[in-house]
Amino acid sequence: MAKSSVLGYPRIGVDREWKKVLEAYWAGKLDEAQLESQLQEIRLNHLRKQQQKGIDYIPVNDFSYYDHILDTSAMFGIIPQRFAYKGGIVPLSVYYGVARGTKDAAASEMTKWFNTNYHYIVPELNGAVPVLTENKPLKAYREAKEKLGIEGKPVLVGPLTFLKLSKGFNKSEAEAWLNRLLPLYAQIVQELEQEGVQWVQIDEPILVTQLSEADIHNLKRIYETLAAAAPTLNIMLQTYFESVEYYNDVIALPVKGIGLDFVHGYSGNLQAIRTLGFPSDKILGAGVIDGRGIWRASLQSKLDVLEELAELVTSERIMVQSSCSLLHVPVTTEHETKLTAELKHALAFADQKLDEIIILTKGLSLNQAVIQDELAQSERVIHDLQQSGERNRISIQKAVEELREKEPERSQPFAERYSAQQAKWQLPLFPTTTIGSFPQSAEVRKARQLWRKGEWTHEQYTEFIRKQMDIWIKIQEDIGLDVLVHGEFERTDMVEFFGEKLAGFAFTQNGWVQSYGSRCVKPPVIFGDVAFMGEMTVEETKYAQSQTNRPVKGMLTGPITIMNWSFVREDIPRKHIAYQLAYALRQEVEALEQAGIGMIQVDEPAVREGLPLKEIGQAEYLACAVKAFRIATCTVQATTQIHTHMCYCEFHDMIDSIKAMDADVISIETSRSHGELIHSFELNTYELGIGLGVYDIHSPRIPGVDEMTRMIERALRVLDAKLFWINPDCGLKTRGLDETITSLRNMVEATQIIRGKY
Ligand code: GLN
Ligand code: ZN
Repeated sequence: MAKSSVLGYPRIGVDREWKKVLEAYWAGKLDEAQLESQLQEIRLNHLRKQQQKGIDYIPVNDFSYYDHILDTSAMFGIIPQRFAYKGGIVPLSVYYGVARGTKDAAASEMTKWFNTNYHYIVPELNGAVPVLTENKPLKAYREAKEKLGIEGKPVLVGPLTFLKLSKGFNKSEAEAWLNRLLPLYAQIVQELEQEGVQWVQIDEPILVTQLSEADIHNLKRIYETLAAAAPTLNIMLQTYFESVEYYNDVIALPVKGIGLDFVHGYSGNLQAIRTLGFPSDKILGAGVIDGRGIWRASLQSKLDVLEELAELVTSERIMVQSSCSLLHVPVTTEHETKLTAELKHALAFADQKLDEIIILTKGLSLNQAVIQDELAQSERVIHDLQQSGERNRISIQKAVEELREKEPERSQPFAERYSAQQAKWQLPLFPTTTIGSFPQSAEVRKARQLWRKGEWTHEQYTEFIRKQMDIWIKIQEDIGLDVLVHGEFERTDMVEFFGEKLAGFAFTQNGWVQSYGSRCVKPPVIFGDVAFMGEMTVEETKYAQSQTNRPVKGMLTGPITIMNWSFVREDIPRKHIAYQLAYALRQEVEALEQAGIGMIQVDEPAVREGLPLKEIGQAEYLACAVKAFRIATCTVQATTQIHTHMCYCEFHDMIDSIKAMDADVISIETSRSHGELIHSFELNTYELGIGLGVYDIHSPRIPGVDEMTRMIERALRVLDAKLFWINPDCGLKTRGLDETITSLRNMVEATQIIRGKY
């Protein structure tokens, strides 16, 4: 009989109760004992749910008080020295200190978990002396057994992945670090074995990326050591997010099971098994249910995959499972009351995915006939959505098909546009500007709420927003900025704002997923053909422009960012969704231009986030990103200046694509890795308008005139003064009023000093 298995379950709870408990504790409203007991209740609830559904291998130790990578660091006592940690079990104050910073010590760096929107706390190995402070997987196993009688499957972050994601050491020291960590892992699995644990899941997602020979050597050493330490414990070596590289090495490891992703690594993994076989002494974890997407699966096609695998492996040796942890999807569709039936029935969040896993396991173990109804139902709901008007906007499909075939291009090359724009705008050398948003005060948020609840009329709200714009246009003029913005006061979120105004989007009430720590996001759902329904930003921008003689930049969110920060349909290629978005945005760009707005910024902060893990996918993805940007922006006149903004600093591997976007001006975040960025300009030329952020907006610290002057001077050693703009790193939405004004004043003063030298 095939078995069912889950790789991890969302922590946040149906109503984000997990988030609320954490935040209440941080605010001092709960003491430690209350935190512990409330989190335990949430954790047990999640286990109970999986138990009731009948999952055979329920994960334990997938729960966390913040982040599972931080848990792993804490388990090994790997705490940066600045937190004055004295050894032993890491106290909660230290644990949250590392995650969030304390008044004396900066938080550890946080970064994206592979190509997902989840962020983990980067372990800092320098100075650490790893010890096993507590066997967390064992503790979680015992709890599930004692409280619920569950024979849980402890989950651990694998040694290779942990080491590869850590920082604070040289490559040449990797061996030495592994020598310190490996005995601790060995102790963990040994204790699990002694306890009578049957299966342990060791996550090694790093195996889907390119590794060195030394890494592969370490991989073998790791699993030989663990197998020797706990010979009767069944280890499921779990991979996800793509197909494994080095399949032959992976299947030769002395572990009892190998978990593969048959959704995001479908063709690679299937091909590997078809051609290279699968060892007859191992269990295959078949990740067929998408742990990252929100759509109901076509159960028939999943069953077909499982049946093919069963032929190659036999069904007794298959665990039917999610492709990765369900951490990346919302909890349940059950309480969604505002979606159309068509859409709601076609969605599957974590709980619905548990059902799918159970159904498929049954179908595979017994026969198709026993799940006949479920198979038919899944086809029906998919078909119904497919037939809906939302997915059949024929005119959009035609228009986008035509766009796909053409190479979108501005009417004139940059050099010509540059002179035309100079003649029109007469901007000084080193024009100063900002990225778009200004502080969203409590007052602004309050006003939006009142309006959303219907307590304020549309007129009242509009009036309020106009007043904010008046205030900030005046402030910007006083400060002496050259290119102004309207301030984005009408927007809560740069994706949601556009999603609400375009067709093809839906918004869930409770479709939250964890982004980092207690922060959750509720991505819009792009479920239909995206269509422009009318002007989205023209009114505010035009109003702001009417209040000043200086140029006001229009402000849009780019197609790739909207796509990457949404859940998207899967019946058409992502590329086509990007082009539909681009086509809709083009209509807004044109409307702005028509309304007399001559500078338009199309933000693409999330381009890099969507970069596929494997090189073959990367080039195609970047080409699509470039094309989408160009579709959105190419139809304007030469004198209309197109800006873009990106907030990250790993520029080097994308520089050609960024050039190809052909924006007249780009602003990018710089200040946290100025040196690196400057270095990439030493190696590459960049000959379009560019503004390197001159101060970090993530901190309330006010940047001094001197430090910004120095930063600008350094940048000017590698960039052309004629093309150089001056701006902060990113939008100022989260900053306070006074600090924003003082910082911008200093920025303008630094600019004047530099102008004096040119
Ligand atoms: N225009 C947006 C803002 O200023 C850009 C935000 C971003 O880059 N994330 O807030
Ligand atoms: Zn930014």
